[in-house]
Amino acid sequence: MQNATRFPARNSEVGGLGIRRALPVAGKRLIGAWCFLDHIGPAKFSDPRGLRVGPHPHIGLQTFTWMIDGEILHRDSLGYVQHIRPGQVNLMTAGHGIAHSEESPQPHSPHIQAAQLWIALPDRLRNMPPAFAHHHDIPVFVHEGFTVSLPVGEFLGHRSPVEVHTPLVGVDLLSAGLASVTLPLRADFEYGVLVLEGSAEVDDERLEPGVLHCPATGAKALTIRTTERARLLLIGGEPLNENVLLFWNWVARDASEIADVTRLWNAGDARFGSVRGYDGERLLAPEPPAGMKPAR
Ligand code: MN
Repeated sequence: MQNATRFPARNSEVGGLGIRRALPVAGKRLIGAWCFLDHIGPAKFSDPRGLRVGPHPHIGLQTFTWMIDGEILHRDSLGYVQHIRPGQVNLMTAGHGIAHSEESPQPHSPHIQAAQLWIALPDRLRNMPPAFAHHHDIPVFVHEGFTVSLPVGEFLGHRSPVEVHTPLVGVDLLSAGLASVTLPLRADFEYGVLVLEGSAEVDDERLEPGVLHCPATGAKALTIRTTERARLLLIGGEPLNENVLLFWNWVARDASEIADVTRLWNAGDARFGSVRGYDGERLLAPEPPAGMKPAR
């Protein structure tokens, strides 16, 4: 069995906020079908308008937003206008094509923290019709000193109502101080662990925010110890085993597909619909570089 591996997240910026991008990074493209992981905050807005992400399209994925602090207002081209608050999930299925915007409602909390992830749709479903679902019924329970929220999947005898299309799990673990737990892992899943707040000892090694810890392939358990308030995100899933190509907001399989959707979106094609009510410009897609290749 190979050892656990660790990957530094990249610092980036989304809608006026500094974020840490933990997926994809060099050497790690996918964890199950999870193909993108941004940790937003915890931060206080410097711009009083808060978060501002203008209308932009997606294909081939589900966007999965797990709100921890503050709030975001989502609008999409299916006509959904939905606030998301702490402990809630927004799940947007792009499939063949959708567009959405994300902004801070006015007025809004000065603080924000969220995890925004993308789930690559499997090839057989990636052109499915777009959809949107909001969930405020996420399971929360206490286990070995941790408050455990289960935004997606099955864990410790609990099950999330959030519907995804490949076997996945996402778990938020919050410790108030001194705590220690050994969590069961599925040997047929791959996993990643990110500290969102505080710090923790994960598999006997200190883990700070901004580093993704990936347990060894086939590992059956994960140990976490905390000596201070800490929050961790555990994600996992069955390996997708498909060649997935990410560029900008697209999840595709080859470069010609990305060239096509880039041209269509920038020309205002009806494939993605239109987002109503956002006070600002839509985002244009950059030209894809020549020679893009899919990566596993
Ligand atoms: Mn988006």
